[in-house]
Amino acid sequence: MQPESIETFIDPIIAVCREQFPRKCGNCGREFSDFQDFAANTRPFGALLPTYLRDDLFGAISYVNCLCGNTITLECVDAAVNGRLAEAILREAVICGRPVRAILMDLRAEVRRRVLGAA
Ligand SMILES: [Zn+2]
Repeated sequence: MQPESIETFIDPIIAVCREQFPRKCGNCGREFSDFQDFAANTRPFGALLPTYLRDDLFGAISYVNCLCGNTITLECVDAAVNGRLAEAILREAVICGRPVRAILMDLRAEVRRRVLGAA
């Protein structure tokens, strides 16, 4: 089987994230009506740890801070897809000679860009 490109995971990630709304910040009580609202009104975590690749890859792209500072996590995919995406990212890191962290940052930025652009 051909390894999958990272690109093919973006739309499925967005679809799974969309299903988790509305939801509320556990700290300030702010309610996010949908994923777009969420992406627009939260800040992504700055630093990502490559160790996320082992068992919590999607944590790396889905941890965000509410404007109150509270950390909110979205589950982006199931474990099977998580493993496939981890493989795709590790492969891209080798082929392109880029750090895993940079690839994760790009992926997360692209997810946000698409969600925010779909107004
Ligand atoms: Zn909050």
